[in-house]
Amino acid sequence: ANEEGGRGSQEKILVSVRVRPLNEKEILNNDVSDWECINDSTIFYKNSNLSVSERSMYPSAYSVDRVFGSECSTRQVYEQGAKEVALAVVDGVNSSVFAYGQTSSGKTYTMTGITGYTVEDIYEYIQKHNEREFMLKFSAMEIYNESVRDLLNVDTTPLRLLDDPERGTVVEKLIEETVRDKSHLIELLSICEAQRQIGETFLNENSSRSHQIIRLTIESSAREFLGRENFSTLTATVNFVDLAGSERASQSLSAGTRLKEGCHINRSLLTLGTVVRKLSKGRGGHVPYRDSKLTRILQPCLGGNAKTAIICTMSPARTHVEQSRNTLLFASCAK
Ligand code: ADP
Ligand code: MG
Repeated sequence: ANEEGGRGSQEKILVSVRVRPLNEKEILNNDVSDWECINDSTIFYKNSNLSVSERSMYPSAYSVDRVFGSECSTRQVYEQGAKEVALAVVDGVNSSVFAYGQTSSGKTYTMTGITGYTVEDIYEYIQKHNEREFMLKFSAMEIYNESVRDLLNVDTTPLRLLDDPERGTVVEKLIEETVRDKSHLIELLSICEAQRQIGETFLNENSSRSHQIIRLTIESSAREFLGRENFSTLTATVNFVDLAGSERASQSLSAGTRLKEGCHINRSLLTLGTVVRKLSKGRGGHVPYRDSKLTRILQPCLGGNAKTAIICTMSPARTHVEQSRNTLLFASCAK
């Protein structure tokens, strides 16, 4: 891949859509589901009450790589929509798995599950490959208003991004824990969750406005060569990215970018959209990674030789149709 991150002959992004079930509140309000998964890669808007003009305004069918209806389990979403990308890390390939969608559409629910299944599979892989020695490192951060915070540190001082001539963009002072075993990893995940909630309460943040990145780096080397001259280490990182609510992107667009806050809140999300669209076209050229904190941090794990999966989550409810269409539009453009 060239400096600007052209994908060249790289494979495209794996894009899925996951529809959650109607929730209790939606059911109580007599809301209905208007979406039908007509096959495993197409979702269809079936509301027959639409006027002719409304119908001509929007596509009624959207195609992605995989569509998961509300009856599908997170295990299925993981197996078919994320596993191949996330587990590339054990083979030394960088990757990112994203959850994109409006607030309360199921991003955190989906991402938490996927992270857990990946951890299980990584440890199973390590057990089966005793001929290699593995080292896992864990770090986690949150981006809020283009400001980066360490989710393993009680100190909430924003972290700076530095350009390292060898490693590219690095997050200065980000804590990187060496993971002892699976239960340690699970403990680290719960520390991050707690930190995130503290941020929400005391820093007056709103989780729907922040992006969370959980990052696992795996180093491995063949035991028989350990300490020898031709000893080599395979290193790769997988990122689990729980994005800010996508309604933020559309809101800031409709309000222009007059509000400074609005502009900041969404810079990372908007830039990610541009980066993803450029990468999915696969024609190389300039990819604006440097336009936001999120895309700068993820650059080595997005495009180039890295693998990417995006799970777009949506509510089936009629009241959310506008946001669901935006999400599906994003999904079809990323494909
Ligand atoms: P988001 O992170 O997009 O704001 P959440 O993941 O917090 O949304 O989901 C909102 C609520 O819906 C949570 O209570 C969650 O447990 C529930 N939920 C989300 N997706 C599903 C699903 N596929 N099946 C059952 N419950 C779900
Ligand atoms: Mg969430």
